[in-house]
Amino acid sequence: MTRTWIGLGSNQGDRAGQIATALREVDALERSRVVRVSSLYETAPIGKTDQPFFLNAVAEVETDKDPRGLLRDLLAIEQRMGRSRGVRWGPRTIDLDILIFGDVAEVSDDLTIPHPRLAERAFVLVPLVEIAPDVLVPSEERTPAQLLETLSREAGDAVRAGDAPWPDRREATCRGRTT
Ligand code: ADP
Ligand code: MG
Repeated sequence: MTRTWIGLGSNQGDRAGQIATALREVDALERSRVVRVSSLYETAPIGKTDQPFFLNAVAEVETDKDPRGLLRDLLAIEQRMGRSRGVRWGPRTIDLDILIFGDVAEVSDDLTIPHPRLAERAFVLVPLVEIAPDVLVPSEERTPAQLLETLSREAGDAVRAGDAPWPDRREATCRGRTT
């Protein structure tokens, strides 16, 4: 089994509901299970700023899949959830990113692990620090807690906005940035 961390984000419709649905879909994948989920965090859109705020969370998942197989399954979940709501274009109902996959460090056209934005975005690092502060991030050779300490102001804020949308949640330890 490989331990992987997946980033979830939604800024359209029932954001928390969609994150919960995506978690159930990930948990239902063959040879994979969700073992821990962060609190929900609200974050301002970065880059294209004229769109609704996001809800973000990070889930720890155990899987026997390889990175490519997991990516294919996550993209299929994204597609199913988009289609079921009739969305043609625009802000996303659900975004699923592989943040960390065991000790894998690889760069290719369609898959970069660890995720290239991991070290630059509060909406990734704040929930990741909540559930995995001390895991070593491959190629960064630092932990999420260390990466969060050196995050710039442009990385945005992540404000705790609710409990983990998952029954197995642990006590939340909020580490949201305040500056
Ligand atoms: P973003 O998540 O960067 O806002 P998208 O979700 O639209 O953008 O990007 C989707 C594409 O990103 C996928 O088709 C996939 O091939 C590629 N990708 C590269 N690395 C990763 C990763 N670690 N996790 C998820 N998708 C990735
Ligand atoms: Mg994505």
